[in-house]
Amino acid sequence: MSSTSILHSQTRKMVSQTQEPNRRKEEEQSSRKWSLQDFDIGKPLGKGKFGRVYLAREKKSKYMVALKVIFKEQIEKYGLHNQLRREMEIQSSLSHPNVLRLFGWFHDGQRIFLILEYAHRGELYRELRKSGHLSEEQAATYFASLTRALAYCHNQYVIHRDIKPENLLLDFEGRLKIADFGWSVQSRSKRHTMCGTLDYLAPEMVENRAHDYAVDNWTLGVLCYEFLLGVPPFEAESQTDTFKRIMKVDLSFPPTSHVSAEAKNLINLLLVKDSTKRLSLQKIMKHPWIIKNANPTGTCMD
Ligand code: AMP
Repeated sequence: MSSTSILHSQTRKMVSQTQEPNRRKEEEQSSRKWSLQDFDIGKPLGKGKFGRVYLAREKKSKYMVALKVIFKEQIEKYGLHNQLRREMEIQSSLSHPNVLRLFGWFHDGQRIFLILEYAHRGELYRELRKSGHLSEEQAATYFASLTRALAYCHNQYVIHRDIKPENLLLDFEGRLKIADFGWSVQSRSKRHTMCGTLDYLAPEMVENRAHDYAVDNWTLGVLCYEFLLGVPPFEAESQTDTFKRIMKVDLSFPPTSHVSAEAKNLINLLLVKDSTKRLSLQKIMKHPWIIKNANPTGTCMD
């Protein structure tokens, strides 16, 4: 299927998904396609590898969205057509409070436009860099939301494979949203493609072995460490050294850090080389560190 055909097949789903209008209105809308004319374009929100993201307002509903503009030339140049198609298909099929919604898409001669849920507070990465590290309450709240979102994804047979602070956005209440499904895959069998981001790779990926959902559980351990200490656990001067540290599970907590014993215990239960022995997502939610620290509303205001 060409990019043109998948783009054409996507119709006006956004209003029906966000505002639940009556059936007649819904039918009316589902027969129409999105175009740039449907939106007032606002300020730029950021710049990614293949284009820019703008704040936009759908003219009829006044609903605020983020409009991601991707240049077709770039997608063709890097041979990312299949990856983008998969990303769009997977993300638009997911509906969870902690997964960024992809409401729809459309295109013109040069560009592809993704209509995304607007995350007012932007990247969690920025928050982490600003404050150096997160408090145990903030970290546990984000971590619990992330675990819930991944449990939902795994239930739909989706493995994310690239969880990192840059791919986590925050809405206006500080609710975490997983964004960027560029490396995700929907499959019930083991996978072989080595992908993701160096510091967050699970040992089975580094060693080029088959992998499954448990790579996301490993990454949760890496992220929990980074939330609390400000740096990922296996950081090193060179890529080879990072790989070696991951394969040895060379994990340590600086003596000066103020990480609680419960948080260390959870990290140790996730950063386990044998993927079958990593703590399950269900057990994470019952871990004392989560029970004690996570805000049950999933929001984080500071
Ligand atoms: P990306 O191309 O996805 O890497 O996005 C580039 C930048 O745009 C990100 O780093 C965010 O700061 C911003 N951004 C992307 N998507 C959204 C969104 N849905 N809501 C708010 N900001 C976004």
